Amino acid sequence: MDFERVRRFAEIRREYGSGYINLNPIQRGGILSEAARRALLEFGDGYSVCDWCPPKTPRLDMIKRPPIADLYQDIAEFLGMDVVRVVTRCREAKFIAFRMLGKPGDYVVVDANAHYSTYLAAELAGLRVKEIPHSGYPDYRVLVELYEDKIKEVIRETGKPPAAALLTHVDHNYGNLSDAKAVSDICHRFGVPFVLNAAYTAGVMPVNGRELGVDVLVSSGHKSWAASAPTGILALTEEIAKVVLARSSIVGDWSGKSFPEKELALLGCTVMGAPLASLMASFPYVVERVQRWGEEVEKARYLCQQLERIEETRVLGEKPKRHTLMQVESLGLYEVSKKHKRRGYFLYDELKARKITGIQPGLTKHFKLNTYGLSWEEVRYVAASFIEIAEKYGLGVS
Ligand SMILES: *Cc1c(COP(=O)(O)O)cnc(C)c1O
Repeated sequence: MDFERVRRFAEIRREYGSGYINLNPIQRGGILSEAARRALLEFGDGYSVCDWCPPKTPRLDMIKRPPIADLYQDIAEFLGMDVVRVVTRCREAKFIAFRMLGKPGDYVVVDANAHYSTYLAAELAGLRVKEIPHSGYPDYRVLVELYEDKIKEVIRETGKPPAAALLTHVDHNYGNLSDAKAVSDICHRFGVPFVLNAAYTAGVMPVNGRELGVDVLVSSGHKSWAASAPTGILALTEEIAKVVLARSSIVGDWSGKSFPEKELALLGCTVMGAPLASLMASFPYVVERVQRWGEEVEKARYLCQQLERIEETRVLGEKPKRHTLMQVESLGLYEVSKKHKRRGYFLYDELKARKITGIQPGLTKHFKLNTYGLSWEEVRYVAASFIEIAEKYGLGVS
């Protein structure tokens, strides 16, 4: 073992920590509250939440000190769902739902704006996908009314409805907000469990699963709940929980051992330390911050309008925006990059010089950003910086 090589790992530092405005879409909703930062240290050791695991029902959701059982109940109430489990990631929650609701070879219907992890979750669960198309350039709206046709198509092809239908509430490419109620109405007419992927919504904006007719709501703690990775939310109705949280029934053929209290798809327990503590400590802050969603959208609309002042630049997706994530298309900045010696990296360099990070290095023609949680002062600074960069390279600004 090369000890010099190994020792440097002990010195890791965050390159873009404090001091930078980070516009990376996946980072904004996962910035910790002060309480979560303290909890992370307090619960940093291994299985730190397991000191009081109840001997008769040794399961994470049964722990009362720290109050994990209460947290799960309160998250369920917050989301308008009946039963909640914290799992490692949104994708794990999707996998668990697909695996438990379907049989290998079954279909799951998904929107064409779905995240790659939705497809992989379906694939690992042995399911096939049928996609709901979107409207294409420049809006990319999911054509939600087509869930009915797709469900019928699956019934024609296989003789039975799909195992589930999933809608991405807000997608990761355009930040479009899709009509969950319209999809749940269709699903329920055909008896199809409706999965809402709230990775970019629950935890930053108000989401009520009961009002939206959701059977399974999944979300991401590190993306939208001011929590450390890995944390995910799996929220269920009472009825669906019976299927998804089915208990283990295996029996050791020699020992006779069995584990009837363990929830099979969770492999017993999930997040048993610091990340769960961070999610818990941030929860009061999250409950409060979703009430300020309206102002977050206003800030996004302001930046959108400012960016579109730049020559040949537009924000893709639905407008006016109803979410803080946006994809910018800038043929103007792209033209600049063609002549610049740093090519597309010039934009990254210029932003970095202004203490702004999170736009993917090298991109100019299409790039994504998220204003969630920035102060008005920061949003104005970001807008002014883009305009200054555009003017510096001779682009017109209206
Ligand atoms: C980010 C994202 C995910 C992945 O979340 P993880 O918690 O990292 O698994 C899934 N779906 C959507 C729509 C996302 O935007």
